[in-house]
Amino acid sequence: DIMQECIFCKIISGEIPSSKVYEDEYVYAFNDINPMAPVHILVIPKKHVANVMDINSENSDMISHIFEAISVIAKQQKLQKGFRVVSNCNEYAGQTVFHLHFHILGGRRLSMEMA
Ligand code: AMP
Ligand code: ZN
Repeated sequence: DIMQECIFCKIISGEIPSSKVYEDEYVYAFNDINPMAPVHILVIPKKHVANVMDINSENSDMISHIFEAISVIAKQQKLQKGFRVVSNCNEYAGQTVFHLHFHILGGRRLSMEMA
């Protein structure tokens, strides 16, 4: 099924290696393999959801856990001066991995262009 083909599910299981920066019961976070900023971390739920459009009242608890983790990671990574959180959804946003993920981008002043 889809989860057996999902590279981020394989990262969570350890089948594909990753550079872990944070883990708890619900959340896994690791360095992006193709960093777009000095700090570029991906934060993902351990439970497979394709993207923001699949968040609903049954699974949205993962979102609070993810953002609590983002807050911890931001402090660990010393991002007090600022950072951006981005989630690409579907074709127009250029989503390439269909396991929900939040990019943390920081470590320098970011472009003011959001889109
Ligand atoms: P998106 O375009 O939002 O779907 O982002 C997918 C991100 O996953 C890209 O920034 C990729 O560089 C990153 N990525 C893909 N494969 C891996 C991997 N094996 N380890 C770490 N990051 C990855
Ligand atoms: Zn997955």
